[in-house]
Amino acid sequence: MGSLKFYSTNGKAPMVDLKGALLAGQAPDRGLYMPEHVPTLDAGTIASFAKRPYHEIAEEVIWRYAEGVIDRGTLGELCRDAYNYDVPLEKVYDRVHVMRLDRGPTASFKDFAARMMARLIGRFVREDGRELLILTATSGDTGSAVASAFHGVPGIKVLVLFPINEVSDRQRKQMTTLRDNIRTIAIDGKFDDAQAMVKRAFSDPALSGLPLSSANSINIGRLLPQSVYYFYAASRVAQAGEPVVLSVPSGNFGDMMGAVLAREMGLPVKRLVVPVNENDEFPKFLATEHYEKVEPSRACISNAMNVGHPSNLARLVNVYGGWLDETGVLHKAPDFAAMRRDLFSTSVTDQETRDAIKKAWDDYKLLLEPHGAVGWKGFLDYCASEPLGNAPAVVVETAHPAKFPDEIERTTGVHPDAPPALAALDGLTEDYDSMPAEYEAFKAYLVKKY
Ligand SMILES: *Cc1c(COP(=O)(O)O)cnc(C)c1O
Repeated sequence: MGSLKFYSTNGKAPMVDLKGALLAGQAPDRGLYMPEHVPTLDAGTIASFAKRPYHEIAEEVIWRYAEGVIDRGTLGELCRDAYNYDVPLEKVYDRVHVMRLDRGPTASFKDFAARMMARLIGRFVREDGRELLILTATSGDTGSAVASAFHGVPGIKVLVLFPINEVSDRQRKQMTTLRDNIRTIAIDGKFDDAQAMVKRAFSDPALSGLPLSSANSINIGRLLPQSVYYFYAASRVAQAGEPVVLSVPSGNFGDMMGAVLAREMGLPVKRLVVPVNENDEFPKFLATEHYEKVEPSRACISNAMNVGHPSNLARLVNVYGGWLDETGVLHKAPDFAAMRRDLFSTSVTDQETRDAIKKAWDDYKLLLEPHGAVGWKGFLDYCASEPLGNAPAVVVETAHPAKFPDEIERTTGVHPDAPPALAALDGLTEDYDSMPAEYEAFKAYLVKKY
């Protein structure tokens, strides 16, 4: 059987298989890869998830996209190896739950995708006898998840650029204490400077001899593993075939696209709630049918969601039959009526986020950090707009509260204990290089070290 093909949302690039899409990241026409058809899981398979462990559900879901580029036994081993940590579903009241995606090595949900991508890419690179140098600029969570996931993978080197004054101590230590095939550079500038340096390196002909690659949020390899935990959650809180309400706090819309794909694959979803922070371009788009980026993006306490033009929105619009290009121009309108039927979106202010952290703690002893609190408040807004009834619901918590101890202590008086992976960082010594936010310095570094 041939392998599933992936096309570009901009429609001007050749189709590729999963291996091609994973190694390329972005399509050559600057569009995003989408599966030619979304594979489905039959009701019997989905029902069987109720009694199966997380890694087996991951294997079933990812296999539907990976058949033909990897063998099933190998995929199963990679899943078992990647998903060796808990995925707790905490009951809050009635059938309402919070799913904590913060038990991976860097304590954010980005571990789920990074660990799978690292294993798949590592395998493909070895198969071809290739080498890869992954360049990434980070404002915190992505860089640490990528560095941790690729640490020790043969054939792959990782270089992470981070703005020295914009990442927390723990975020920095998650990257700078790894060593081996992971190098880190502190940039004396802002995240945007670091990102511009990385982007320029990718398009610099003088560096074309280096096997550069990226592992950013637009890689289709990020989305597929992010479908799995929605199947897992439903299998634990819903009866077979029973629709579930999902609430996913969103920035670049990669996490929510995992839920969209899960629904397309056959998971019964009553409503997908997509709360955002004060970067409110999406709820406005849904309501007014007019797209306008938020420029510059607004700085909110849920800082990993400070996105004024979500890169994965092009994929969502594509699913609903429209075309949005990478610059934010809407060439063809999606089916807005269908989008509004399936999705509910709302913007949550910083004040509402803090109030939600406090009230969740006071009412239910539910400890949330700012991103999860946006998801929680959005869920409550949804419940106020339409009766939840007896439907099962799952609100996604995307990071560990101990990553934001000050904010939480101020609002609740509780000091969140660090999980072992974060606590262990305190005793480790760091190792990183430093440079000004100047491209020529970065280029000289690349030429000298690689
Ligand atoms: C990246 C991130 C998000 C946003 O996820 P998207 O896929 O970009 O929508 C939310 N919470 C945390 C903690 C994150 O690191």
